[in-house]
Amino acid sequence: MSTVALITGAASGIGAAVARRLARGGARCVIVDVDAEGAERVAKELDGVWLAADVSAEESSLEAVALAERAYGRLDLVHLNAGISGGVDFAHFDVERYRKVVGVNVDGVVFGVRAAVPLLTRSGGGAIVVTASLAGLVGFDGDPVYTMTKHAVVGLVRALAGPLARQDVRIGAVCPGFTDTPLVADSKEVFVDAGFPLLSAEEVAAAVESAFYSEVPGSLLVVQPGRQPVPYRYAG
Ligand code: NAD
Repeated sequence: MSTVALITGAASGIGAAVARRLARGGARCVIVDVDAEGAERVAKELDGVWLAADVSAEESSLEAVALAERAYGRLDLVHLNAGISGGVDFAHFDVERYRKVVGVNVDGVVFGVRAAVPLLTRSGGGAIVVTASLAGLVGFDGDPVYTMTKHAVVGLVRALAGPLARQDVRIGAVCPGFTDTPLVADSKEVFVDAGFPLLSAEEVAAAVESAFYSEVPGSLLVVQPGRQPVPYRYAG
């Protein structure tokens, strides 16, 4: 029986790399993205199924899980990865943008977990990995709202690890540094000019795969260029 994986934000960057990696290992993939064309392209490449949907709406997560069940009859791995950068300037606060960033980066994860857990449990247990960020562990003053959303999902993962383990679902997060994807296209030149190495989406995908199989509930895996991913530990 093949592993069934559902990946949000899988039309591009880290999500697409995770879907490709899991499919290479034999998984059947459910590709979810607000970018309909991109979702269809990746799903066709991997012989998977796709849903064009905005994860900030609760129905999207419910539909995505229903699609997994209809297409493959089960669900084993869920990568809650869709995310957008903030770009909310506190001096010229744009409330609409603020709500959008919170909607995708936080609501999308909350709804994704809620929708996925019952089918993961009915499938005999499974794992959820959230793409947080280093900005979920340390303050990133260049983008405070993004930093807030990533801290929020790290808190959710920590708080849910125990209760979900009792439903045979492991939950963890990866916390990557800057990764070479369209999300950081605008700032990439600055990093390259400063000789600052970026992660590749494939390096982060490898960390996501290992996080799926981590025995430690609530594990936060820090991913940085040129180093092995390491679990984050409190200093105090
Ligand atoms: P990306 O822009 O390449 O991919 C993000 C994908 O999410 C896109 O395909 C986009 O269409 C999709 N998406 C956006 N809004 C959506 C919505 N409302 N509903 C469904 N899909 C939506 O960027 P990426 O770097 O691969 O980002 C993936 C995740 O990694 C994000 O959560 C991001 O915050 C996180 N992250 C990125 C970096 C980085 O430096 N690139 C670092 C740490 C964490």
